[in-house]
Amino acid sequence: MNGNLQNWLQEQLNNLHEQNLYKQQVVMDTPSGARISVNDRDNVINLASNNYLGLANHPALKQAAIEAVERWGAGAGAVRPIIGTMRLHVELEQKLAAFKHVEAALVFQSGFTSNAGAIPTVMEAGDAILTDELNHASIIDGVRLSRAERKIYRHSDMNSLEDALRDTSAARKRLIITDGVFSMDGDIAPLPEIVALAEQYNAAVMVDDAHGSGVMGGGRGTAYHFGVHEKVDIQLGTLSKAVGVMGGYIAGSKPLIDWLTQRARPYLFSTAQPPAAAAAVAAAIDLMEKDDSLTSRLWENTRFWKEGLHKLGYDTGVSQTPITPVMTEDEGRAAHMQQLLLEEGVLALAIVYPTVARGKARIRTMPSAMHSRADLEEALAAFEKAGRRIGLI
Ligand SMILES: *Cc1c(COP(=O)(O)O)cnc(C)c1O
Repeated sequence: MNGNLQNWLQEQLNNLHEQNLYKQQVVMDTPSGARISVNDRDNVINLASNNYLGLANHPALKQAAIEAVERWGAGAGAVRPIIGTMRLHVELEQKLAAFKHVEAALVFQSGFTSNAGAIPTVMEAGDAILTDELNHASIIDGVRLSRAERKIYRHSDMNSLEDALRDTSAARKRLIITDGVFSMDGDIAPLPEIVALAEQYNAAVMVDDAHGSGVMGGGRGTAYHFGVHEKVDIQLGTLSKAVGVMGGYIAGSKPLIDWLTQRARPYLFSTAQPPAAAAAVAAAIDLMEKDDSLTSRLWENTRFWKEGLHKLGYDTGVSQTPITPVMTEDEGRAAHMQQLLLEEGVLALAIVYPTVARGKARIRTMPSAMHSRADLEEALAAFEKAGRRIGLI
């Protein structure tokens, strides 16, 4: 072992502990449900997962996964362009394109690799990328991997975006990238305004709908919600959050998808999604195509949850979606609150720097379609007790 490296690692870890920034691993002993066993504690109300619709443990998805393992095996066996593409993947992509009302879609191993793959594949030196300051880490990495000029605009600030558009008029082509739903604050990007500016300044638009997929627009995403899906060049969706399994996809025009199959590095150089995942995701899309009752239930619970928190006097920031931050500002307070909530039988995690800015710590809560009214009422009682103990309310 190398002393320089090992000592450096220990110093880094010590720093994190001192600043209350070290994240303890939380281990589940049950499927991801409304109530879970976690860190040896049973019957804990789960407000922390992205399993918005309860699909991660849905019987139809489990059945599809089991049947796929029986018929297709456990793994795909190769990267997509070699011999990792199964009929399952192709059918899933057709299903996703139809669901999203776009020409074509391409599935990646995750939302993360979809961003890391797509962005540098379509933007190159001489181009400019205009990116919201609160965009997800995988967008930031995707932008860094491209050789395009990077312009960061203030969060959902159309004046700042317009300034960035004016500043980049010499670029060969331009791409505005935004989260559809922002993952830490739960606010929705102003897509109609973004699309209008894009048209005015001749720029393309990419929406990362990781948290909009299955949630917004009856499940079809934020662009569909606003009716601008035909004006957005690149839509990214995850299959890992509301859709309940694992994977990501890019949806858009045929030439876009065609080009990605020729150049996107995670598609070319990382093994295809396993058959069980592809089949389970396809079953999830079938469920969502049939009816949007799960999505409706998610939104009913979201309204009830937000109202309850507001009545208690909590600040939930600018959230408009199921992602509901309970602002504590201070990092130590957030960690303390997480601990008190767990003692009261509620799992909701503290989100601190570097995931959010310093001094913007919060407890992030996400109600889901799985929660009963009683679950949410009990969770509100826990928030009342913990919040009073800490002096937050
Ligand atoms: C979670 C997330 C991703 C990554 O998706 P995975 O499928 O979990 O890799 C990408 N973008 C945003 C905005 C996210 O919230």
